[in-house]
Amino acid sequence: MNSFASHYKEPAPILDKENPFESMMERFEIAAKIIGLDQGLYNYLKAPTKQVITSIPITMDNGTLEIFEGYRVIHNNVLGPSKGGIRFAPDISLDEMKALAAWMTWKCAIVNIPFGGAKGGIKCDPSLLSQAELERLTRRFTSNLLDVFGPDRDIPAPDMNTNEQTMAWIMDTYSMHSKRTETAVVTGKPSLIGGSLGRREATGRGVTSVVLGALHKLGIKPNDSIAVIQGFGNVGSVTAQALYEQGVKIVGLSDVNGAIYNSKGFNINEMIDHVERHKTLIDYQNAESITNEELLELQCDVLIPAAKEDQITSKNAKKVKCKIIAEGANGPTTAKADPILQSNGILVIPDILANAGGVTVSYFEWVQDRMGYFWTLDRVNRRLDRMMHEAFTNVYKSAEKHNVSLRIGAYIIAIEKVAQTLKLRGIYA
Ligand code: NAD
Repeated sequence: MNSFASHYKEPAPILDKENPFESMMERFEIAAKIIGLDQGLYNYLKAPTKQVITSIPITMDNGTLEIFEGYRVIHNNVLGPSKGGIRFAPDISLDEMKALAAWMTWKCAIVNIPFGGAKGGIKCDPSLLSQAELERLTRRFTSNLLDVFGPDRDIPAPDMNTNEQTMAWIMDTYSMHSKRTETAVVTGKPSLIGGSLGRREATGRGVTSVVLGALHKLGIKPNDSIAVIQGFGNVGSVTAQALYEQGVKIVGLSDVNGAIYNSKGFNINEMIDHVERHKTLIDYQNAESITNEELLELQCDVLIPAAKEDQITSKNAKKVKCKIIAEGANGPTTAKADPILQSNGILVIPDILANAGGVTVSYFEWVQDRMGYFWTLDRVNRRLDRMMHEAFTNVYKSAEKHNVSLRIGAYIIAIEKVAQTLKLRGIYA
């Protein structure tokens, strides 16, 4: 038997999944046309700077040899070293990495941090691997990419199924080869080895900041508003708690096992305790059980998809009944759903703005590592809030100026910034 088969599960088919790279390019093309982007620059920004596919041989705990496939795509590094997560999942592809890497380029440009965009991962099912196998896999992947990674070149971070421990292994492997401790080669590390305070909560805090900005624009007071949140992991639960503290009533929640509804609103602190104890939301007593599809169609002011990509599609977009969508997840709305939401007057705060709080505090972590001086949580949060507020204001102005959605307004800012920087730097030949 091919031993790879024992560690590789075919992913469940996702209905109405649109190719993520094409979805990204559809929006890019609209924005590029509006600003009259030169054809040469268009071609340059469309093509990733570097795409690496690497073979990772690992001796498994039972002594057999298995070969895994790893990827790193650097979309662009004109603004600075490239930055982006590493995910471990059975269904990743180079196309997905290309889209996610490009989104990182745009995200960093929108929040005005000096990074380019990258993304990487290993095709594997981490639930079938022991901790020791995961460590060997991570270390060999890192050593295969030693000439790609680096504090001034390309800086990984955690993503789906990777965590602080994964980053610690990458940092240690890289440091062993450099013969010195290089904390700034990754972000999202444990604070004991150079991680930043506030990194875990940063994405949810950023989502909250843009939701409050959007409510303000629509003249809705937080304590008069109703929200629904899909996904109750890092992003979903932190956003839920922060909005709850602002007086927002959260009537719908979900996780991978299902969704729950309570018209009176959930006590989010109680829900966080419940999930810590039971590992899922769905057996919570004071709620009505609904499907994930029904959750997305609940009447509310703010809908926050904070789970995964391709949730609001051309099929269900017309049934969405909120005023604001804040994309905590990456790519939760397909390109084909965009015009439907826009024609229904729904204000969509795009992922490349809404969830950029995470990469912003990753940038703070890199800055602190390089200075060797660490900030208080208060300083991290104040700077994050200021940068998210500025980014939201800039995107809003760009959308108004060009009479487009916030998403296209955000792409316009990002493409203009990268294109102008490229023009200044010139093409080295
Ligand atoms: P997580 O693994 O902590 O949480 C994911 C949550 O979504 C879990 O509650 C899971 O049960 C739920 N979920 C999974 N599949 C679902 C489904 N089909 N329906 C409903 N719920 C489902 O992940 P996270 O870090 O919170 O990331 C969530 C999203 O936010 C991802 O798209 C990620 O790329 C994006 N994101 C995360 C960060 C970050 O800093 N963590 C930063 C930027 C973007």
